[in-house]
Amino acid sequence: DHLVNQIAAGEVVERPASALKEMLENSLDAGADKITVDLAQGGIKLIRVSDNGSGIEAEQLPLALDRHATSKIGSLDDLESVATLGFRGEGLASVASVSRLTLTSRPQGADHAHQIIAIDGTLHPVEPAAHPEGTSVEVVDLYFNTPARRKFLKSENTEYAHCAATFERIALAHPQVEFTLRHNGKVVWRLPQQNLADRVSALLGKDFVDAALQVETVAAGLTLTGFIASPTYSKASRDAQYFYVNGRFVRDKTAQHALRQAYRDVLHHDRHPAYALFFTLDPANVDVNVHPTKIEVRFRESQAVHQFLFHSVQRALASTTA
Ligand code: ADP
Ligand code: MG
Repeated sequence: DHLVNQIAAGEVVERPASALKEMLENSLDAGADKITVDLAQGGIKLIRVSDNGSGIEAEQLPLALDRHATSKIGSLDDLESVATLGFRGEGLASVASVSRLTLTSRPQGADHAHQIIAIDGTLHPVEPAAHPEGTSVEVVDLYFNTPARRKFLKSENTEYAHCAATFERIALAHPQVEFTLRHNGKVVWRLPQQNLADRVSALLGKDFVDAALQVETVAAGLTLTGFIASPTYSKASRDAQYFYVNGRFVRDKTAQHALRQAYRDVLHHDRHPAYALFFTLDPANVDVNVHPTKIEVRFRESQAVHQFLFHSVQRALASTTA
């Protein structure tokens, strides 16, 4: 079973950034509004995520690292969500099976904190610990027990860049949460609770927001909000394309095509526009389980989605050329 865990973990925990993403999503799920990330050596040596969320009761700590336990699967009615959410409920267990993991938590309102250590996927007994209300997950020496997989890791710089990108994608979508990122002890990002415009400005630059057009379209259960670079913004590039579906960062061909086509249609030039756009639709109309790392989605009615996105952005752009 141990080996099975490690093999499965390889699919979910492709690299340090994949572990970081799982950990950040857990902190957000726990309702945290303050999250601090510490990385060392690109996340290979250390990933620590500390939050002020709901916390975990002492007796629940082993369950949190149990492959088959998840708070989100309560009954048979939830089988549908198991199918759509796929790997949910295995994130932390997978990370634990390929690292030395310490989970420390103090539930809101509790007097004491407890901690559990998993080495190589083996759980040690729960012990008292010191920790403020909330949770810290510390992942040390990722893949120390799977040298073959460790060999696949790129340089520290590359792994760090993936971690930073993961952090920035999540931070952009949660401006109401205070985020800090440190790498090798040095502060890289310190983002206070702020509104979306200020968060976009902090992460993508003031010049982007100042020149950006605001998009806000609602139609037939679909919404698109956010910012897209105006024609005068010259630094448009693929690096600044942030597109979210129901709060989740994705790379989507339909969306990329629709946005680019709107640009071409209105401005008659062919550029990769910069944008930070949030698209929402009925979750039943989107399959988020196309790719194990969940960066791709499939729309049930991609033609309708394409049209909606095209027209929303076309309208925003046209207002500047009128
Ligand atoms: P999932 O998030 O799909 O439930 P995980 O393996 O990522 O599965 O986490 C297992 C469980 O551990 C969660 O359901 C949650 O109860 C608990 N947990 C993990 N991280 C945190 C956290 N930062 N704060 C509170 N609870 C957490
Ligand atoms: Mg999770």
